[in-house]
Amino acid sequence: MRCPACDYSLWGASPPGPCPECGREFCTTEFIFAPGKVRFLCPSCGEAYQGTDYEGLPDPRVFACVTCGERVDADDMPAELAEGVAETDALVTSPWIRRKALGLRVAAHKTAVASLVNPSQIVQGVTDVRVGAAVKFAIIVWALVLAVVFLFLMVVVALTLFFTGGGGGLGATGVFFAVFAGLGVQMCIGAVLSLFIVVPIHALLAHGVLMVTGSRRAGLGTTLACMYYGQGPMILNILPICGWYVSGVWVWVSSIVLLKTAQQVSGWRAAIAVLFPAVGAVVLAVVAYGMFIMWALTAGAGFSSGQVMDTGPSNLASAMVSYTTETGSTPSHALDLLIDKRIDSSMLESSQAAGLAVLADGSLISALDTMAPEELTSLRDSLVDEEPLYKFGQLIFAHRMADLSAAPPDLWIAFSDPAAQVAASDPSFSWVSLEVHQANGRLAVVYGSWSEVVADQNIIRAAEGLAPIPTDITQLPQ
Ligand SMILES: [Zn+2]
Ligand SMILES: [Zn+2]
Repeated sequence: MRCPACDYSLWGASPPGPCPECGREFCTTEFIFAPGKVRFLCPSCGEAYQGTDYEGLPDPRVFACVTCGERVDADDMPAELAEGVAETDALVTSPWIRRKALGLRVAAHKTAVASLVNPSQIVQGVTDVRVGAAVKFAIIVWALVLAVVFLFLMVVVALTLFFTGGGGGLGATGVFFAVFAGLGVQMCIGAVLSLFIVVPIHALLAHGVLMVTGSRRAGLGTTLACMYYGQGPMILNILPICGWYVSGVWVWVSSIVLLKTAQQVSGWRAAIAVLFPAVGAVVLAVVAYGMFIMWALTAGAGFSSGQVMDTGPSNLASAMVSYTTETGSTPSHALDLLIDKRIDSSMLESSQAAGLAVLADGSLISALDTMAPEELTSLRDSLVDEEPLYKFGQLIFAHRMADLSAAPPDLWIAFSDPAAQVAASDPSFSWVSLEVHQANGRLAVVYGSWSEVVADQNIIRAAEGLAPIPTDITQLPQ
């Protein structure tokens, strides 16, 4: 029992004081005591009463003294340590338990600090460690972290857009807010899952370990409360330099100390209880990930067709198809689409190609967008030949001779150059993920070994009467 202003010992002093050191008045119910560790004296006759309620105070708090008959209020009773009890065992210093006296903001701040540097303070001497109070604390910490991280990301992206001029009007602003609304929802769902699924399961497993390894002071509720108080170090995530790993490990350490104190078990048992499920989960995740990779590799190798992932509409492919249906023949060259202004030069680029797309004379491909139609036409005439495949921009085109108005949906119109992904020495073993513009107007990513995905495509091409795509990458147009 210390003066909240100056820390002067107030054991035995008569409320309302004042404090002999600093003059602050005090009352006994400002403090929370460990039940049964403190005696309270009748201010009139000195009769001693045990503090037995949940805050270690006399129960009831207002009563008639059995010796002198005076009306006694716990507020006014001097407090003494019971025989042989140390001050540290008698006083509950948990800032969260005392949040009514401290105020929520101060209590949250002090509890978060305690969870980092002295977790045992949060549950020391507290007989009834309540889950509800601990959940409240964990929610405050997580909400604060989410809000700060979210605002930080938003400011960074907004500044990036602003300074790079990547905004581009109201449309971009709308997209920006839509993306962030989605991100915010995801973060909140993640937090709710962590707090109300992951933490309880962790507590359940940890309590199971405590039950198996010996006695403990209290039930599952206390273990669960410790796990929630142990979320305090998550607050570190409001510092951009502090990774989630640091706070994650700190959460474990904090939970171990809390469990050791609240359940009165050895440090080793507390550590095993907290770490066994946590390490188990990490090991399980690694094993599951490994199995997934194995599955993906074997499944991928087993599919002769490779796997196709649709990534969205392709302007290039739809322009090719609409050109064909409107004019009655497939374009002789991709430049036909530029001449008609169906596409611009950016659609001749591939996100998988390194460097900038250039024309034969070394000028940037974007020069096409400013060329006059006559210039484009003469360029096209110089490039059109009888080859089934040709490279233009960063793509290899395979549409010539194909009837795109009635082509199979997965016929390749154009694809990114596989040269960088395929080893010339052994293409059969080379794994590729190729961007492919398909006759269904979609852009897909095709995964698989180069020789297999080409073999499959060539079956489709053969059925259409088209020349095969060379399996040997050195035979592809450059
Ligand atoms: Zn004082
Ligand atoms: Zn009395």
